[in-house]
Amino acid sequence: MTRRHDQHTKHTIVNVGYKSTNYWVVSAGGSRMLVDLGWPGTWGAMKAHLDRMGVPLGEIKCGLATHYHMDHAGLAQNFKQAGVPLLVMAQQLGAIPRMKGDMKAVDGYVEIAMHDNIVISCAQSREWLQRIGIGGEILPTPGHSDDSVSLLLDDGSVFTGDLTPPTMAPDDRVETVLASWRLLSDHGARRVYPGHGPGGRSIVVS
Ligand SMILES: [Zn+2]
Repeated sequence: MTRRHDQHTKHTIVNVGYKSTNYWVVSAGGSRMLVDLGWPGTWGAMKAHLDRMGVPLGEIKCGLATHYHMDHAGLAQNFKQAGVPLLVMAQQLGAIPRMKGDMKAVDGYVEIAMHDNIVISCAQSREWLQRIGIGGEILPTPGHSDDSVSLLLDDGSVFTGDLTPPTMAPDDRVETVLASWRLLSDHGARRVYPGHGPGGRSIVVS
């Protein structure tokens, strides 16, 4: 494991999740970003959870979906309409239009417009995050889906969405899943904040 993160910005992590899904607010000083963006049609619940946890909507500098499945990106457009920009990784662009088909049976999904997002590559992510006061990077971590990415903070906290735990990877994807965990570990990941279940567990890489 690399130990290049001895000096880092102090982050706080708050979970504003509901319906068995975690939505993580990362704050550094007065800057905040939201990792994963709610179920479709649950804007009222999301706002109530943000309020309850003392997170003003106006302080969220951007929203990032770890991947474009309904429970992780369902409110992305609602957030944009409320003034929170959507940060999209280049490899996620193809997955966004596919949401619409997946959402046919889901009430309240607001289709994500494609023309007004902030689109960057993972290689550009550290510089971009630095501009909003967050020390870290966004890494490609396919395995659960091709468009899956993880936010890794310089203090070792990593937001992995639905990246399959190494021991639970299906045979046909085990190499991809393990490579994603190894990449995170090699970049200094230590504590995992997943899309479902408790956060803060130590990273395990077999
Ligand atoms: Zn998923």
